[in-house]
Amino acid sequence: MAAQATKVLQSGCNKVFAFNIQQRKFSASSTKMAAKVGFIGLGNMGGHMAKNLLKKGYPLVVYDVSKDNLNTLKEAGAEVAGSPAEVASGVTKVVSMLPESSHVKQVYTAENGVFSTVKSGSLLMDCSTIDPSVSQVMASLAAEKGVTFVDAPVSGGVNAARDGILTFMVGGPEDGYEAASEYLSCMGKNVVHCGAVGTGQAAKICNNMLLGISMIGVSETMNLGIKLGLDPKMLAKILNMSSGRCWSSEVYNPCPGVLDGVPSSNNYKGGFGAALMTKDLGLAQSASTSTKSPTPLGSMAHQMYRIMTNHGYGEKDFSSVFKFLQEQEGKK
Ligand code: NAD
Repeated sequence: MAAQATKVLQSGCNKVFAFNIQQRKFSASSTKMAAKVGFIGLGNMGGHMAKNLLKKGYPLVVYDVSKDNLNTLKEAGAEVAGSPAEVASGVTKVVSMLPESSHVKQVYTAENGVFSTVKSGSLLMDCSTIDPSVSQVMASLAAEKGVTFVDAPVSGGVNAARDGILTFMVGGPEDGYEAASEYLSCMGKNVVHCGAVGTGQAAKICNNMLLGISMIGVSETMNLGIKLGLDPKMLAKILNMSSGRCWSSEVYNPCPGVLDGVPSSNNYKGGFGAALMTKDLGLAQSASTSTKSPTPLGSMAHQMYRIMTNHGYGEKDFSSVFKFLQEQEGKK
């Protein structure tokens, strides 16, 4: 079922689309005016995602605590609201893209939060990476109001958000997934149904635990190779035609100068901050504790990014672990 739906949804979205559940496909509708969509959290990811919805013909009402981020979306054509409650009062579809569990709880459950005004029958799509148990609590609170909540965290970084090619991992009921797909497919190229609420988050934190570990592995390897006198570009080439190859070595190499257009070649600016990686690895550790799953490397990776964050690397892309290792070496 998920594979079939994913394949269909890879066709994407061009302007205003109507989702036909019978045929399981989208069809363009230039005559029908799309209903307004709410969007909360307009940061590195959400800002691009909201703009893509606008480009696809969905009028937006947006909210963020950052006035700068609100103004950017206002200039792009969105209507600005004064609170999450004001967003939810005027729409039946809301997308949120917030940093952590605490922000999601606040945006949905605070006095001026989404749940204070949300209309029965609404669909809430939270794309933030948060604790799966928080997604489940939000879904229960939503259900009390006759509202569907799906978790829909993303993989793909800021460039994928800008280009509308994210992968969404959706947790929620089948009909919620189908309804959400109309909107998510305008911001991404894959929309995968993972199962019940919280399973999108589960898939996301598993992926990021592996990514955090592999980035440290590639950084250690590149650093060692350079110390042994190898040219970094040549070493990366060898790795990428050998069994050590992975996304961190091939697409996002952490060693400056090996690849163009990645954070390591831009002083680790942009991309996915080490603080956010620390957060995701913390979520993986909570999950490993609650399920009693041994994740020794995940635990070490978590501590590594935490140390980096405490040493001023929080805003730098997580591939800066390469630079951090070199700096520690320089202290000998
Ligand atoms: P960000 O910090 O750039 O953006 C978050 C936005 O939320 C900011 O604009 C902030 O002002 C706003 N915000 C915070 N509290 C708020 C509140 N109470 N009400 C309204 N707005 C509020 O973060 P980001 O990089 O866009 O990441 C968002 C989520 O996506 C995170 O959960 C992150 O783990 C996940 N993610 C990020 C990347 C990436 O490459 N940056 C990739 C995949 C997933």
